[in-house]
Amino acid sequence: MREWLIVPDPRPSWHRLAACAGDERFWETPLRGSQKLARLRAVCHGCPVRDACLTAALAEEAGRPAWTLSTVRGGLLPAERHKPPSTRR
Ligand code: SF4
Repeated sequence: MREWLIVPDPRPSWHRLAACAGDERFWETPLRGSQKLARLRAVCHGCPVRDACLTAALAEEAGRPAWTLSTVRGGLLPAERHKPPSTRR
C-alpha cells in the first residue's frame, strides 16, 4: 500500500493571482541592472494583488536588517517599501 505525504503550499492564497506566479526571479534573485529592474517593476505595475504583496512583504520583513532585504515586492525595492506610506511612489 502506498502512502502519500501531502505538503501544503507555503505561499499565500493571493499568490495564485500574482502576475509573477511561476516566475521565481521576484522572490530570490538579487537585482542587477536597470533594465532588469524596469522589467520587474512593469510586471508588478499590472499585478492584481500588488497591495496584498506589499502588505505581506512589510510584515515578513519587519525588524530585519536592511542588508538582508532584496528584490522587488509590490512594485517597490526594499528602501522604497520601508518608507512611510505617504512618501512611497
Ligand atoms: S506585486 Fe509584483 S512581486 Fe508582488 S505578487 Fe505582484 S508581480 Fe509578484
